[in-house]
Amino acid sequence: MAGTTMRAARLHTIGQPMVIDTLPIPEPRATDVVIQVKACGFVPNLGNVLTKWQTWFPELPLPHLPAIFGLDASGVVAKVGNLVQKFKPGDRVYVNPALSCGSCRSCRDNNPTTCNNLTFQGYFGFGPESQKQFDAYPYGGFAEYKLAPQANLVHLPENVSFEQAARFGYLGTAYAALEKGGAGPGDTLLINGITGTLGLGACLIALGRGVTQIIGTARNKELMEKVKALAPNRIRVLPLGEGTIAERVRKLTKGRGADAGIDCLGPGSPGETMMDGIYAMRRGCSYVNCGGMGEPVNVNVHWMMDSQISLVGSNWFTAGQGQEMADMAEFGTLDLSVFEHSKYRLDQINEALAAIPTRNGGFTNFVVTP
Ligand SMILES: [Zn+2]
Repeated sequence: MAGTTMRAARLHTIGQPMVIDTLPIPEPRATDVVIQVKACGFVPNLGNVLTKWQTWFPELPLPHLPAIFGLDASGVVAKVGNLVQKFKPGDRVYVNPALSCGSCRSCRDNNPTTCNNLTFQGYFGFGPESQKQFDAYPYGGFAEYKLAPQANLVHLPENVSFEQAARFGYLGTAYAALEKGGAGPGDTLLINGITGTLGLGACLIALGRGVTQIIGTARNKELMEKVKALAPNRIRVLPLGEGTIAERVRKLTKGRGADAGIDCLGPGSPGETMMDGIYAMRRGCSYVNCGGMGEPVNVNVHWMMDSQISLVGSNWFTAGQGQEMADMAEFGTLDLSVFEHSKYRLDQINEALAAIPTRNGGFTNFVVTP
């Protein structure tokens, strides 16, 4: 590592532009790794997190300011702690930003994403004590270097670029949701909201997992065609607002209904659209919500009981699942070539934030390349 300082974009005040500050490069503790950041995803929801989050979701705390944001970082290992075994300087990695306490019952049971203090490094936390995790790892990806626990790293194969790896967060969220939903060969999967960042990720993962038929809902006709073109024989896209989702899915499944559902509708979507998706399920299957729907949904629990349909909540994924995705990409079952990278330097961070509304649905991949 050249020098002892680095540049980092920090938010000092909510609603104000980020500022490029000079900070010491972090030093790894025994089981930590320091990564030279090559790319960090600028996820669409970051705009909400930086401006409205505390009003929308006061129970999901932001780090104390000033803070370095940046959720999905990839880069090269620069330095490792003396107890790190499987990573060495020069390794290409993705950093799973999910930090957990490491000592609660969930963590000790190897379920870090159900830790009460689950915290996204460089984003927001899920528990009242998330600040402890922010204090331990106060480095988001919008910096030249970041510190991470060795357990959070994913080895990247040579054929996955740093920019592509910066999409692993939403891809992994879809991956974990699909594992919970159990869709695979022979099945029809409904993806409610298929053209956004998460929905497109779910579509790519489902194609890779061999799901036979993928039915997605969407609003933007141009994006719908683009998604369908990924696999015209396997993907059907239903425009929202042209009849119920449930009736149209039943028509496409010979009256049976979908074998699994993944809800990728974001905050601001109407709750009825989710319930319409649940009505499209066949008897006895699971509908997995991972999209961040903000409003309470009027769920027909009696119909779901009669039909034995489970509504499952899912967020994020483990580094192990991230490694499985990296392996899929290495061997070509997960196609990451569809993304259109929109790159910004660290000192253009505020321009990247302002450009989010111009994105071409989930195809655009906003990345900051420090
Ligand atoms: Zn824990």
